Amino acid sequence: MFVDRVLLHLIAGKGGDGAVAFRREKFLPKGGPFGGNGGNGGSVVFRSSPHPFSLEAFRNLRTIKAPNGKPGGSNHQTGKTGSNIFLDIPLGTLLKDAHTGEVLCDFVSPQEFVACQGGKGGKGNSTFKSPTNQTPRESTPGTLGEIKEVVLELKLIADIGLVGLPNAGKSTLISSLTQTKARTGAYPFTTLQPNLGFVELQDGTKKCIADIPGIIRGAHKNKGLGLAFLRHIERTQALLFVVDLFSPTAVEDFSLLRDELSSYDPHLLEKPYLLLLNKIDIPGGKELAEHFMESYPEEIPLLISAKTGAGCDALKTYLRGLFFKQAAASCPNAAVFSDPEEPTIPLE
Ligand code: GDP
Ligand code: MG
Repeated sequence: MFVDRVLLHLIAGKGGDGAVAFRREKFLPKGGPFGGNGGNGGSVVFRSSPHPFSLEAFRNLRTIKAPNGKPGGSNHQTGKTGSNIFLDIPLGTLLKDAHTGEVLCDFVSPQEFVACQGGKGGKGNSTFKSPTNQTPRESTPGTLGEIKEVVLELKLIADIGLVGLPNAGKSTLISSLTQTKARTGAYPFTTLQPNLGFVELQDGTKKCIADIPGIIRGAHKNKGLGLAFLRHIERTQALLFVVDLFSPTAVEDFSLLRDELSSYDPHLLEKPYLLLLNKIDIPGGKELAEHFMESYPEEIPLLISAKTGAGCDALKTYLRGLFFKQAAASCPNAAVFSDPEEPTIPLE
């Protein structure tokens, strides 16, 4: 399953309390204050990199708590610091406050973000020693760590987004272009989760293609599956519009798709795209394609059959040309993090 939205309850560690202690040794009956400071509590830190593929690892997690700092000891000993919890998330994740919806961090490049700061350790009585107060009995407690409810949302950074009405043949196309077995069926909404696959182009490069659940009229107003998947299209580098030639409304379908995208975000229509007229294998398909093209003389569609694979090589050739042009632009640098030995919560 592809998990693209999770709710988490984060609790940073509490700071350890400061200690009250006095030095007591055989020949030093009044050795003075000796209590150490408490250790700081651990923080909850998100760390983005290109490696995790989805938010799958968080599926069964609800609460994530960083360890508390330990109290100070006698002998000036500072309590042990609670270690930070590092949570690895994919690039393209959006971290939001679950209550206000405020975006706390948009992980577009590899980075670390402290979501919940650990509490500060309290002061031990030795810090309160002064010329006028040789035997301080006071210490301060550690402060609480931050607590937050957050939502992680993954904006797919697929290279190619498939845009089409339910039944247009998107899942079938992704299956024939890639090794993915997407569910297909002759009824709307077989694809409730976006399916992903990697299409290998003729030069050996692999591009991530996302089969996004069908758009229906009013999708931008969050009807049907609406916004949840339009979000995924935002960061793709190219769009493939898939139109079912045998849809009774094939001609309007293409305008509808474009209208829905532009109502959501007009910039989406500036992306490079290719119009695919699908199901050309069915008798009468060529005639329908000619009829379709009369309504869009400015478009240069590609006739394909997702089922038989006809036209798919031409499609790959087109994609190769497109990505060759864009090649220089993308490719985020590999992540270099401060300390690879830091403990990471086991997320299995
Ligand atoms: P999606 O809703 O866009 O993902 O559409 P699907 O891939 O699930 O396909 C919907 C139906 O159309 C399925 O029954 C497919 O077998 C069928 N279909 C898809 N592409 C083709 C094609 O090129 N030719 C034919 N004959 N049927 C197709
Ligand atoms: Mg589908």
